[in-house]
Amino acid sequence: MKTMNSRREAILTIQSRKPAAKSVDYVHNPLMEQFGSNVFSRAVMRTLLPKKAYEALIDCLDNGQRIDPQLADIVANAMKDWAISRGATHFSHWFQPMTGATAEKHDAFLQHGGDHDWLLEFSGKNLTQGEPDASSFPSGGIRTTFEARGYTGWDPTSSAFIMESTNGRTLCIPTVFCAFSGHALDKKTPLLRSLEAVNKQAIKLLRVLGNNESRRVTCTVGPEQEYFLIDEAWYLQRPDLINAGRCLFGAKPPRGQEMEDHYWGSIKERVLAFMMDAENELYRLGVPVKTRHNEVAPAQFEVAPVFEQANVATDHNMLLMEVFRRTAQEHRLRCLFHEKPFTGINGSGKHNNWSMCDDKGNNLLEPGNTPHANEQFLVILTAVIRAINKWGRLLRASIAFAGNDHRLGANEAPPAIMSVYLGDTLAEVVEGIISGKPPAGAKVQQVMQLGVSTLPELPRDFSDRNRTSPFAFTGNKFEFRAVGSSQSIAWPNTVLNTIVAESLDYMATKIEEAVKGGKNQNQAVQAVVKEVLAENQRVIFNGDNYSEEWHKEAERRGLPNDKNTVQSLPTLIADDTKKLFSRYGVLNEEELISRYNVQLENYCKTVNIEAQLTISIAGTMILPAVLQYQNNVAMSITNMYRALKESDRPDTSVHDTLLKTLWEKTSKLKFAVDQLESVVKEQDHGTEPYEHAKFYNEKVIPAMNAVRAVADDLEAIVDDSLWPLPKFREMLYIY
Ligand code: ADP
Ligand code: MG
Repeated sequence: MKTMNSRREAILTIQSRKPAAKSVDYVHNPLMEQFGSNVFSRAVMRTLLPKKAYEALIDCLDNGQRIDPQLADIVANAMKDWAISRGATHFSHWFQPMTGATAEKHDAFLQHGGDHDWLLEFSGKNLTQGEPDASSFPSGGIRTTFEARGYTGWDPTSSAFIMESTNGRTLCIPTVFCAFSGHALDKKTPLLRSLEAVNKQAIKLLRVLGNNESRRVTCTVGPEQEYFLIDEAWYLQRPDLINAGRCLFGAKPPRGQEMEDHYWGSIKERVLAFMMDAENELYRLGVPVKTRHNEVAPAQFEVAPVFEQANVATDHNMLLMEVFRRTAQEHRLRCLFHEKPFTGINGSGKHNNWSMCDDKGNNLLEPGNTPHANEQFLVILTAVIRAINKWGRLLRASIAFAGNDHRLGANEAPPAIMSVYLGDTLAEVVEGIISGKPPAGAKVQQVMQLGVSTLPELPRDFSDRNRTSPFAFTGNKFEFRAVGSSQSIAWPNTVLNTIVAESLDYMATKIEEAVKGGKNQNQAVQAVVKEVLAENQRVIFNGDNYSEEWHKEAERRGLPNDKNTVQSLPTLIADDTKKLFSRYGVLNEEELISRYNVQLENYCKTVNIEAQLTISIAGTMILPAVLQYQNNVAMSITNMYRALKESDRPDTSVHDTLLKTLWEKTSKLKFAVDQLESVVKEQDHGTEPYEHAKFYNEKVIPAMNAVRAVADDLEAIVDDSLWPLPKFREMLYIY
């Protein structure tokens, strides 16, 4: 008789699941009628606001001006009427505290309207400012508890939207979140400030280059999002997935991703039903999701939107993750955004496609077809290359957190060494500029005479792309590939924008100086581009970033390689980082230190939760199962001795060996758990955050790994029907 354990039950449950049909219908509700229907967009405002008010608002938005209280009242009123007509009863300031998640508190529009009256009200003040109790959000030491109040402030550059839930709708207003002292307590504020820094420095550079057309420059971002989907019946049996977002135990499955049959394979009906349902909600929220496909690992998928302005793209990525999580549950699936839910197979990342764009829609990283456009392109390209070389360490720190440590440097994700991939043609152009000679026999025939000659056509060939580079030029944008799948893209983009702003400033200043020194404009540009490329060329690498040789070569070139979060984070508070952020008005010293503290705290908390879970799962789920099996084996040997006459007894040495192995490994497991427990107890909560994080990295993680190693070993020996945790071979294939 087969024993029915909870894993077998899960298989039966999953077998009977049907793709969840939802009322997604583009025949009767055409896509373009649904797209953005839950967004208080410019188009909606144009129809609902008085003409003058609309024009005043757009003027404020486009020119970064303050919105006066009267105008705010008019906008708020129109927003309220619109939201109520779409079924909303509540409003919420929607913000992004330093937790990395979003935060919301809902308030009904309902208000006293006089003696016995009730009204639905929403004032300009309600729209522009809120006062959440800030004391429970991480501040990294910025705000002492007696000053617990913070405020949220309307970000009119990202449209308000309506969130639909099962039993109602809520008007959500994207906001920044600051302390009353003005210090930023969130991820959006520094991002907005960094965009302003790019705008200022890019315009300055464009003017120096003789471009008097562009009035504003912003950054564009298209984040490709990877994720796993597993059935709820598995998920609910994994306390580690529920509480830590990743499997803390689990042997590598016999069939991993070696068959390479999942990538771009046909999408299972049930998964497609989920994707289409989630996309439908995102369309109504105006999130332009475009691409869906199976990823490399089994049960891994990707979704990518069309790029948008960086601030909007960031909000939309947060919304996307939320909608995916929620919709997956409705389909009896769970969406995992962790960077490494399953050790032994590929993890997930977020490819952050990034560029700069002016108010006319010109992409500043688009190679042009006139000499002048090319000159501008090469100057900006040079600025970005310099930024990555000079500030690579800081960029690396922007993606440093416990989850991403499992991914970076493993041979599936870019290494922690920041380098730039340009592709062969562009790399030859760069070499040509530096040496002043046309590369012999190369595709690039002419010397790159900036502002005089045009660039050779850059191949946009898919195969030309180097998938191993952390920062790759892909035709007309850079792709920052080391961002973690679970993280908000706000911080990596804040850093990227800031370091590029500094570099644009540097280029503009250098060219101006050269002109003052007597060079004509073209000579000045030539000389500066050549010099800056020569100084920063060590960061350019077109080869295989996963290879051992590159690690050696990078070391020889002096490129930093901060292997994990703890090694990486101190860069955040280095003197030149402080100067950089304050100079461009992105973060003052206190704000920067607070982010450093929050990231360290976050690291400690994450590893601590994992350690506690490891102790409890190993001690209360795995150990009892192993002991039971050990007992079964022992009983079978004893019973055989009892059942047979001495003369009939066969050789039992294999049984004995199995028992001994189990005995040994059980002892090892218990020992490792005890060790981990005592290490965790040893910690001194009073130490500096950095020392504390170091302790977790150097002491706790190895002790956790030791527990896992024995447990995963045991998984391969113990009676399958007794094993308490769903196995990778099931979770990744049965859904
Ligand atoms: P891939 O081959 O890597 O999928 P795509 O050209 O499809 O490349 O682009 C991937 C992502 O890059 C998409 O989200 C796309 O919208 C975004 N992207 C394209 N152009 C830009 C740009 N100028 N700025 C930012 N992101 C961009
Ligand atoms: Mg891509």
